Amino acid sequence: MTKWVYSFGGGSADGRADMKNLLGGKGANLAEMASLGLPVPPGLTITTEVCTYYYDNGRQYPAELEAQVNDALKAVEASVGAKFGDSDNPLLVSVRSGARVSMPGMMDTVLNLGLNDETVQGLARNSGNERFAWDSYRRFIQMYSDVVLGVDHYHFEELIEIHKEEKGVDLDTDLDADDWRELAGKFKAKTEEELGRPFPLDVKEQLWGAIGAVFGSWRIERAKVYRKLNNIPEAWGTAVNVQAMVFGNMGETSATGVAFTRDPSTGENEYYGEYLINAQGEDVVAGIRTPQNLTKRAREKAGATAPSMEESMPDVYGQLADVFAKLEKHYRDMQDIEFTVQNGKLWMLQTRAGKRTAKAALKIAVEMVAEGLIDEETAVMRVEPGALDQLLHPTLDPDAPRDILTRGLPASPGAASGIVVFDADTAEEKAKAGEAVILCRIETSPEDIHGMHAAKGILTARGGMTSHAAVVARGMGRPCVSGAGQIRIDGKAGVMTCMGREIKAGDIITIDGGSGEVMIGEVKTLQPELAGDFASLMVWADKYRKLKVRTNADTPTDTSAAREFGAEGIGLCRTEHMFFEGERIIAVRQMILAEDLKGRKEALAKLLPMQKGDFEEIFKIMRGLPVTIRLLDPPLHEFLPREDDEFEDVANAIGMDVKKLKQRANELHEFNPMLGHRGCRLGITYPEIYEMQARAIFEAALAVEADTGETVVPEIMIPLVATESELAILRGKVEAVAEEVFAEKGAKVDYMVGTMIELPRAAIAANKIANSADFFSFGTNDLTQTAIGISRDDAGRFLDQYVKMDIFAQDPFVSIDIDGVGELVKLGAERGRSTKADLKLGICGEHGGDPASVEFCHNVGLDYVSCSPFRVPIARLAAAQAALKDR
Ligand code: ADP
Ligand code: MG
Ligand code: MG
Repeated sequence: MTKWVYSFGGGSADGRADMKNLLGGKGANLAEMASLGLPVPPGLTITTEVCTYYYDNGRQYPAELEAQVNDALKAVEASVGAKFGDSDNPLLVSVRSGARVSMPGMMDTVLNLGLNDETVQGLARNSGNERFAWDSYRRFIQMYSDVVLGVDHYHFEELIEIHKEEKGVDLDTDLDADDWRELAGKFKAKTEEELGRPFPLDVKEQLWGAIGAVFGSWRIERAKVYRKLNNIPEAWGTAVNVQAMVFGNMGETSATGVAFTRDPSTGENEYYGEYLINAQGEDVVAGIRTPQNLTKRAREKAGATAPSMEESMPDVYGQLADVFAKLEKHYRDMQDIEFTVQNGKLWMLQTRAGKRTAKAALKIAVEMVAEGLIDEETAVMRVEPGALDQLLHPTLDPDAPRDILTRGLPASPGAASGIVVFDADTAEEKAKAGEAVILCRIETSPEDIHGMHAAKGILTARGGMTSHAAVVARGMGRPCVSGAGQIRIDGKAGVMTCMGREIKAGDIITIDGGSGEVMIGEVKTLQPELAGDFASLMVWADKYRKLKVRTNADTPTDTSAAREFGAEGIGLCRTEHMFFEGERIIAVRQMILAEDLKGRKEALAKLLPMQKGDFEEIFKIMRGLPVTIRLLDPPLHEFLPREDDEFEDVANAIGMDVKKLKQRANELHEFNPMLGHRGCRLGITYPEIYEMQARAIFEAALAVEADTGETVVPEIMIPLVATESELAILRGKVEAVAEEVFAEKGAKVDYMVGTMIELPRAAIAANKIANSADFFSFGTNDLTQTAIGISRDDAGRFLDQYVKMDIFAQDPFVSIDIDGVGELVKLGAERGRSTKADLKLGICGEHGGDPASVEFCHNVGLDYVSCSPFRVPIARLAAAQAALKDR
């Protein structure tokens, strides 16, 4: 018989931490903590297999489930010494979702389940605390109605507000047992009014209703959006945990909190957390009351007056510190935990590897190696390559003038400027239109995720460091300032005010998620520091990776930046960008529009010294390392004059009539330039262009070698080759130029000639093409366009929908389409090497900086990836991780 239900508690458990696939992350770690002997309220976990079964079978449960749940519940009852539904001594439970990986805020939890008009009396008697019992009951009705029955929580909040007003009090804490009893009655009536049927008072009905709601919530929209953004497969499903309640709302010696074993923002090795006295779980995260600091140090740093837990509950704080030490030693990682204190006793409700900023990930990984908790390989695996992006981005220039509007909590580091936007949809819209936006909200909720993702930064008026906005922003690597309490946001009117100043939608502000500052206007930023922890991790990454990492760079500035980021050469230097600079565009236009060979040669003679100069600079910066230069690739029409005055400039330069010139430009028009007269086709029809470029390369290489005494390693790359003969012909031309230049200068350089593989035909005929190639560079941007048959520039209209509908798992221009384009790369690599075993293989599309694509490149045995300068460290780390996974 299938085991659908796993028990935990009382020092033992059926499950273990490594059973996340079956028990979900929460369930597996509750089991692990119970086995470790930590204080965990007993409970049971319904497996993810039940979720899968449920959706595969028209939302039906397996037949044996109910009996297994009942048995496990009996064990919980025995352990707690209370009975579910018993009016004298009722057991209350929470019903909690838990997928394999944590999905913050996605799945709803119901607390205090098992309360009804009878059991609430039992709870009141047993606890000797009537107010607590009725408060718990009304919380339960509110939560259950909201989560399970779909009655929005604001209905209940409104009732509380009205009640407080009638009573003339401000705070929830001013309400007593009678108030909550009265409100519980009103809540039930409200739910009945909304639903047309009474609130369920049968505890079994409550339990199965909640279980069903958890499974149901796996497929609600916001959960789907989160999964999409985080590449979590729909098929995984969620587990359900049913756990005995412990109460943080029993009075002044009770509390609830969340904590990290190290600072998740900076990575400092000090406890970090927040707690609330006399409160229940959700209160901390929801940001309704402002929580207090866990440690004295953090309180002092924040300048807060409300006592820290270390000060107000030293004994429990001690219990907590012991648990932290045990957990870190056991899991060998920073943990994010939830706890509740019931009458001075600590209970653990959750632990998981804590989400952290890139900065913290780095620091924690490097320090844990020094502490002997983990080894270098583990440290390399701990930092998500894509997250390095956060560290490679600018921070505010400390000396730049700033007009500080207000200060909030430094919820997620990094600085960002952008226009103020008050809702998620607009944020997404504006970002799509290319604007940098700062999403400003009173507080965020899971419905805002798409807007948070689109924004450069997030600002909230309410909520603590563990509020939704803070947690999600840190996960996404967005700068975030939360709880900026002086700001009043009126989203409908499109304004926010702060200390008498007004900021309208569309105004520019800057936020610094590292300091919590909010500034009016744009503030100057600084480049990041690449020494310290970052350097240590990179040294380790370089030790393990097999792939080389080069950069795509066309300018000396990019080339220098890339070298600083650790690029081991240039994988793609596009020559056309150089053609647009300053005065030279006129010569380029002259070349294109020339009527004959003679005219073209005249123009090319003007371009030669300029190209040579470009290459010299780049060779100098990259000396000792290979530089792949791609000969002219784009359709000529991209260079054509458009405006009248541009035509005139060219006409003057050539001494040609403007009218005639325009006519010539018309002749060059193409219907589908991407598949037109471009790439090596230009070299075949106008060999003098490639000859000029080859000459510029060789002359520059010789000059730099003579100058610096270091070797220059040019790799000349012919684009858009489809057939062996194209490459053979052009290789011949390049070699002839080489001989010529070498004879003239009386010196030689080593060089290579190779091609881009960016057409399906080239990948398929790679065995033939390899005869004339010393290297292949997979141009996966064009290969994606030509293999799938979509134009990147026109894909915007449908690609989003394709990704939403899962037709493509991801945007194939961002992460390589492994099944299609990837197969072509694999085939091209294999066939190329079948002809030439030592053929050098690389990739130079955008994919070279995408971690998943880098892993793919490692797996198919390429020699290097090439990516934009800022992504070089990401590729280095991704390559190391791919190699470590492959061991
Ligand atoms: P989430 O995944 O959104 O954090 P959880 O299931 O962890 O949801 O629970 C939400 C809140 O309820 C947390 O603060 C948690 O500590 C609290 N909670 C859950 N189960 C219990 C319980 N059995 N007793 C007391 N508090 C609980
Ligand atoms: Mg939780
Ligand atoms: Mg191309």
